[in-house]
Amino acid sequence: MYDDNNIFAKILRGEIPNTTVHEDDSTLAFDDISPQAPVHALVIPKNKYVSLNDFAEKATDAEIANLVRAAVKVADTKGVKEDGYRLLVNIGPNSHQEVPHLHFHVLGGRKLGPMLVKG
Ligand code: AMP
Repeated sequence: MYDDNNIFAKILRGEIPNTTVHEDDSTLAFDDISPQAPVHALVIPKNKYVSLNDFAEKATDAEIANLVRAAVKVADTKGVKEDGYRLLVNIGPNSHQEVPHLHFHVLGGRKLGPMLVKG
């Protein structure tokens, strides 16, 4: 069940400001408010998808292609496409997904270290 009051829904409605990096018909990308690396942007579909699971099930092929291409475009715009970056998606409780609207994290600008903290 999609929560219309999640923070990214509010950003998409223009109720909360964002620093936009990229926008097209079906996708918005903006800087993360609490960056974990010199480059940390979020890429989201404009339609209401709780998670990647939901997106894979319901999104059109065009939406899926746009989101993936937007992530690479954001990496390029931010200057990290060639030296490397990390695309990260949290899905559900075990992943620590905090905002229940699908988002790709684009992280880069320094050596990011191991993929996961052991724990
Ligand atoms: P996740 O834990 O994968 O759900 O990531 C949620 C991300 O949203 C975190 O990196 C937050 O810093 C980020 N975030 C939360 N509120 C905002 C906001 N208003 N603008 C930009 N990023 C946000």
